[in-house]
Amino acid sequence: MTIVTRFPPSPTGFMHIGTARTGLFNWLFAKHHKGKMRFRIEDTDRSRHSEEAVEAIINGLKWLGIDWDGDIISQYACGARHAEIAHELVKRGHAYYCYCTPEELDKMREDAKSAGRITFYDRRWRDSKETPPAGVKPVIRIKAPLTGERLVHDQVQGDVKVAAEQLDDFIILRSDGVATYMLAVVVDDHDMGVTHVIRGDDHLNNTFRQNIIYESMGWDIPVYAHLPLILGPDGAKLSKRHGATGVEEYRDMGYLPEAMRNYLLRLCWSHGDDEIISTEQAIEWFSLEGIGKSPARFDFDKLNFINAHYLKLAENQRLVDLTINILRKNGHSLSPNTGQHLLSAMDELKSRAKTLLGLAEDARIYWITGIITPDEKAAVHLDHDGRSILQKISNALKDVDSISAESVESLCKSIAESEGLKLGKVMMPLRAALTGTTSSPSLFHAIEILGRSEVLERINSATQ
Ligand code: GLU
Repeated sequence: MTIVTRFPPSPTGFMHIGTARTGLFNWLFAKHHKGKMRFRIEDTDRSRHSEEAVEAIINGLKWLGIDWDGDIISQYACGARHAEIAHELVKRGHAYYCYCTPEELDKMREDAKSAGRITFYDRRWRDSKETPPAGVKPVIRIKAPLTGERLVHDQVQGDVKVAAEQLDDFIILRSDGVATYMLAVVVDDHDMGVTHVIRGDDHLNNTFRQNIIYESMGWDIPVYAHLPLILGPDGAKLSKRHGATGVEEYRDMGYLPEAMRNYLLRLCWSHGDDEIISTEQAIEWFSLEGIGKSPARFDFDKLNFINAHYLKLAENQRLVDLTINILRKNGHSLSPNTGQHLLSAMDELKSRAKTLLGLAEDARIYWITGIITPDEKAAVHLDHDGRSILQKISNALKDVDSISAESVESLCKSIAESEGLKLGKVMMPLRAALTGTTSSPSLFHAIEILGRSEVLERINSATQ
């Protein structure tokens, strides 16, 4: 049997971390079993539909490096097939037309509420011999079992049971002929040959209902694995309040996709105490048994730790390109030598970065262009004393034969000595002049990379 999983997000405009994790788990499971992962967009809600929202999901998945098999399926495009199955179920006696008016349904809801019942629909059309009222377009409802217990055998949650009385004769086709989510998902999963449904446990309740449709059609019920929620660090459901919840926000902050995959994998899935798990290793190890039952807490420190690890492994030119993208996206104008400078400095830059956004900030000395306006702290070091030190450095730099980290270091040291100052006192105005800030990577190395004329120009402009 070929294992077929599915990734069926609703296009909400961005890819939530939880959706991304679901996609990753389905992908890893399919890859592990040399199966397939199908990709379906659940785009039946036309009032909120937009192509950009669909693009956002596709781009999120592509960025994560998760691919899929076959074409992207539009659930909306399968509408006729959903309706066909709803009518087929009526024909087979497993579903029926219901002609209740909104007022009647409201009344039933109220009665159920005062009687403390979970379900409300009184099934008045289930076995009705009444003539349907003229001019009313009916919905189609499924005939849910009336007694007994319903069981879902879940690979993560174990056996979960619910009494049949808790399940309504729910609607499968609306009066406008559009299927409900409950029916559409089952029909699509069946038609796409899905063998394993791996999704968030907020769908566990739906599973009891969906299984009724599978049984009524005589279709094989897929294997289910319902994943625990992702919580914020404080234990509340992960939300904007905790920080970024969209995958693209992490991309824009400079998290690498391989780091994101590694981090998302560890949200409810484990392999011993392993934290750093490459994608190849994950494919080899992934199993549903490794998924824990308790919710995962989003841990920003751990994500940073994992990202720092992958930044160190990443190829320098790739990091240069990504950093330049981030800088451009953030509206910075860049010096023409940015790419070259960043490449020369990347070994050092990446060794201390947690994100590319941080790296880009750290690398300011290499991309800054035009007149450098010092920030408040840096300006303090460009006072009269600071400027006179800069003048001395400038003169010494002009005289030195070749500019290297070593020659600049010894030149700065000798100025410090002759002035009776600590080396740090000499470096502060230099840093302020070159970056406009009070922090930078190692200045000696940076000066070697920037070259004499660029450095002299910046000192000159700071001492004007
Ligand atoms: N479209 C649903 C969602 O985004 C997923 C449905 C399913 O996995 O069955 O939550």
